[in-house]
Amino acid sequence: MSKLIDTINKPEYGKQYRLTGSPKEKAISNGDTWAESEVPKILVCPSCKKELESVRLYSECYQLCALKGNTITDYGSVEELTETIAIECPHCGYDFYPKGEINES
Ligand SMILES: [Zn+2]
Repeated sequence: MSKLIDTINKPEYGKQYRLTGSPKEKAISNGDTWAESEVPKILVCPSCKKELESVRLYSECYQLCALKGNTITDYGSVEELTETIAIECPHCGYDFYPKGEINES
């Protein structure tokens, strides 16, 4: 049984833990377990206050195209890779990317 608890009560790679905290907080220094002291990595939308697990990312891609008169004859290769235009909250459309030009209709 104690071996099982040892396995559970260990920090996990990639997670953040509160090592010290006030007596009201869960922290290693207060004798709480690693699992209890985990600091959740959650992005909260500043507009709709929802916790986000994903965002919508808009990007633009440029291509050089060969012309014959007014007809495109060759799309060629991508000259510039994706450029971010907007990063939006999927709930309210709040733009995390201040220079974004896309607005939800
Ligand atoms: Zn939002």
